[in-house]
Amino acid sequence: MRLLVTGGAGYIGSVVVARLLEEGHDVTVLDDLSKGHRDAVPAGARFIQGRIHDAALVIEGAGFEVVVHLAASSLVGESVEHPAKYEENNVLGTARLCNAMQTLGVNKIIVSSTAAVYGVPDVAIITEETETAPVNPYGSSKLTIDNDLALRTQAGEFAAISLRYFNVAGAYGSFGERHRPETHLIPTALEVAMGQRASLTIFGDDFPTPDGTCVRDYIHVLDIANAHVLAMAALEIGQHDIVNLGNGSGFSVQGVVEAVRNVTGHSVPTEIGPRRAGDPGVLVTSNERARAHLGWIPEHPDVTTMVDDAWRFVQERGA
Ligand code: UDP
Repeated sequence: MRLLVTGGAGYIGSVVVARLLEEGHDVTVLDDLSKGHRDAVPAGARFIQGRIHDAALVIEGAGFEVVVHLAASSLVGESVEHPAKYEENNVLGTARLCNAMQTLGVNKIIVSSTAAVYGVPDVAIITEETETAPVNPYGSSKLTIDNDLALRTQAGEFAAISLRYFNVAGAYGSFGERHRPETHLIPTALEVAMGQRASLTIFGDDFPTPDGTCVRDYIHVLDIANAHVLAMAALEIGQHDIVNLGNGSGFSVQGVVEAVRNVTGHSVPTEIGPRRAGDPGVLVTSNERARAHLGWIPEHPDVTTMVDDAWRFVQERGA
């Protein structure tokens, strides 16, 4: 199929593009390179540098059948400080993109959403039925997008699937995480292992979890990418499906650090810091709907594999 992938120069986007190309799709990447990297766009994809707000220029006459929309601002802390940026880039940008699609007759979209729409849920295992109650502007921007997609699909000839990622980790060959500055747990711990940072700060050890540190559902970026490949076949006109993507099991921050120590052979010193604003104690999702609706099965559920792949990636880059 002929596809437009927004955000295809980013971490998850580059792996999604790599997998779509492997499946034989014709891929054009639209990315403004505000965070992505030109050399992260897999060979074989066409590249256009630009914003999703101007997508009409790219879509017109191009014959796209599906848009895979990953371009977004996605840092919780930044969203608290600069909510307008999240309104502009995520909410307005996606509305502009969808308007352009609908005007120009492209009626299928797969959108990256997030566990952050659930806020601080009081259930052990989240499902798509869990109440949405975001606690930061990033989560609310993504929830607004999901709600808008529901309205668009109800109203007419439009199909959408929102994939709500939990904690994406790992790498796929030469495609991996290259954020500057890095804030995510696994790549930050790997920077400590590489001697680029003195220690890792654990954000709170007084959560109601077995070792007191936050528990998250880490999911391999290749499994995430495979869900996009499968979602392509699950799009139905008039339907907006929401699907959580996680392994269904949680690892604590201490557990992840232990995996990083085992994989790298480095000591990875840690210190305990205060809780990070807006961090829930536990975020773990059921993946039953992903299995039922997409036929998706996570193939790399072991956090050690994710750390191992990420470690190989950073070593090969010498980053
Ligand atoms: N975390 C931490 N120290 C760090 C980075 C993250 O203790 O330097 C914790 C964070 O509080 C959360 C988990 O690791 O519980 C995963 O955080 P990350 O930023 O990787 O992803 P998020 O859960 O924010 O999407």
